[in-house]
Amino acid sequence: MAQVMEEKAVCPHCGQKLNKWSTPTFNFSDGLGWCSSFLYVCFNDECTFFKNSWKHMYESYGQEMGYRYMLHPDSGEAASLPCGSKYAMKGDIIDEIQEAQEKADLEARKKAFQALTDYFIAKDVDALLKVLMDEEGFGSVRLKAAEHLGEIGDLKAVEPLANYRCVNEVIQAKIGEAVQKIHKKNFTMECPYCAEVIKVRAKICKHCGKELTA
Ligand SMILES: [Zn+2]
Ligand SMILES: [Zn+2]
Repeated sequence: MAQVMEEKAVCPHCGQKLNKWSTPTFNFSDGLGWCSSFLYVCFNDECTFFKNSWKHMYESYGQEMGYRYMLHPDSGEAASLPCGSKYAMKGDIIDEIQEAQEKADLEARKKAFQALTDYFIAKDVDALLKVLMDEEGFGSVRLKAAEHLGEIGDLKAVEPLANYRCVNEVIQAKIGEAVQKIHKKNFTMECPYCAEVIKVRAKICKHCGKELTA
């Protein structure tokens, strides 16, 4: 299969550079099975292929619709993409600036995950707490930090964890899990009256003196 090189993706009808267009999850009725996440499409409204298709569809079938020139990136096969209006499908044009942004994001996330693994191996609880509480950070990275804290966190980590409130419910739930995990490892719990850390076996809280019913 001949892969179409990006710089060669040009419309033969108007000479305009083709746009990457993200394929919808459904297929059009012509049974075209697009095994590609994007197609190259000419989105030039002045393109002769596009303009003539409207004329042709109207004159032949009385239909208000047209076709845009498209190219399959893997096979290099040209085809027509039916569209109901000038504006149809333009929302799915893959913006190259956005694409670059996404790439940079992906890179940054990869780096953040790598740093997280390093902290985990080094058992650096403070660094993990910092990652978890960084509101600007990636959600997936913060979630993983909470998980790691449950695995390697000590009783000193309980207080900052229990006091932290995260607006993201998934992360908040993971923090709760982490706290419980740390307690379990240390045979401790939070006193329901004064919130101090006490032994699970305690019958009376050594901090507030309240009797604990099991
Ligand atoms: Zn064109
Ligand atoms: Zn107490």
